[in-house]
Amino acid sequence: MKTPEQLSLPVNQSPKPHVLIVGAGISGLCLTKGLLLTGHRVTVIEKSPQIKALGAGIMLQYNAVCALEQLELWTAVHPHTLHLPGFLVCDSQGKALSSYLPEPTEAFAKTYSIHRGHLLEALYQSCSDAQFFFACQPQEILCEGEKVHTRLSNRQTIESDLVVGADGIHSFVRSHFMGPREPGIRSSQTICMRMVTENHQKLDRGFEFWAPAQRLGLVPLQGEKLYSYWVENLPQEGEQEMTILALKERFSGLSDPAESFFAHLESEAQVLQHELIELRRPQLSVHPRVALIGDAAHAMTPNLGQGAAQGIEDALCLAYLVHQGSEVQEAVSNYQRERKRRVKQVWAQSRKVGQLGQLSSPWLCKARNQMMRMMPESLAYRGVASLLQPGAEMAKRMSLVA
Ligand SMILES: Cc1cc2nc3c(=O)[nH]c(=O)nc-3n(C[C@H](O)[C@H](O)[C@H](O)COP(=O)(O)OP(=O)(O)OC[C@H]3O[C@@H](n4cnc5c(N)ncnc54)[C@H](O)[C@@H]3O)c2cc1C
Repeated sequence: MKTPEQLSLPVNQSPKPHVLIVGAGISGLCLTKGLLLTGHRVTVIEKSPQIKALGAGIMLQYNAVCALEQLELWTAVHPHTLHLPGFLVCDSQGKALSSYLPEPTEAFAKTYSIHRGHLLEALYQSCSDAQFFFACQPQEILCEGEKVHTRLSNRQTIESDLVVGADGIHSFVRSHFMGPREPGIRSSQTICMRMVTENHQKLDRGFEFWAPAQRLGLVPLQGEKLYSYWVENLPQEGEQEMTILALKERFSGLSDPAESFFAHLESEAQVLQHELIELRRPQLSVHPRVALIGDAAHAMTPNLGQGAAQGIEDALCLAYLVHQGSEVQEAVSNYQRERKRRVKQVWAQSRKVGQLGQLSSPWLCKARNQMMRMMPESLAYRGVASLLQPGAEMAKRMSLVA
């Protein structure tokens, strides 16, 4: 393992580009692994003192799994996952609006849930050949000729050929180049509460209940745990605050398994609460030698469970293009070209699903539910396949070991 002091020396010994990654979240760690696989030298700086084991559950759908396979990360991640044989979206009475079952395509057979902390830990353990600086942040990034000099909060300066901002929605890297207002962050006018409890109901598949202006999701995790999330339209001034007691009241009347979930829910349970925000538009690079990936590039609402999946796709794509041996600037520009349409489409679709799911007028909800029930199953499958298939195909095309 190299010492931090060695890293401030110019790094021309290696013919392959040296990459500095800012942020050790899901996207940053996936990129780290991809670049290590292809023999690059990688330095990662993370502002937290250690890998964040925070968070609740997360779903990994087919496209994410294919990209993790190509990054040789799936073997480390898979033991912590639970396979979900189906996902049922229903109305507040428990009547199915749409249901995704494993048949008939591979795309539906590969859906898994995992605790976010376990995912991050498995990714980190797979990146031991990279140099990590924890409790460290960039303070200045200077692009000079063919090199980028990044001054860190620990007073060191790192010279690299490429800097990648994988530092989340409030990305320092992005705002350092674009200013704090570009492209800007916007609220989806919804708030989300998440938690992990015991799976008393022994659920083996995912459920989402759609009631006017609120949704409840229940997703089993490995080890008899249950990940739940509640999304509500932002409370108007003077409205009741979101506490577990208030939630129990508001969601009362839902059918099982939601009803028994609330019956078991203790009011002192540990809950994470966030307003759901997104970037106003995706932004994949800020300089020919500075790329953005994951939430730093295209933070989206979580309505499709695709935010991390898109970050994983970005990581594979950028690692592949850097590995192709083209100049770094060319790799960054190809990365932008390759990902632009895809991330914009998923980001926009996620937003639309959120708006549909959070309708508040009971009449509109009724009309929406009727339309969803009438939709032929083949059409619903086609919709999900069109979301997942492009990522899976990209992953199959971008082999890092060929
Ligand atoms: C309620 C909810 C549910 C979700 N469910 C799903 C799901 O089921 N499936 C899915 O695919 N996605 C889901 N997502 C989206 C997913 O969580 C995110 O898209 C994903 O975590 C983004 O990962 P990231 O690595 O790009 O960014 P982040 O997770 O934000 O990581 C950024 C990292 O950079 C570090 N950092 C920040 N600033 C600095 C700095 N200045 N210097 C150094 N380090 C810095 C942070 O500490 C962090 O470690 C969900 C999101 C939410 C809110």
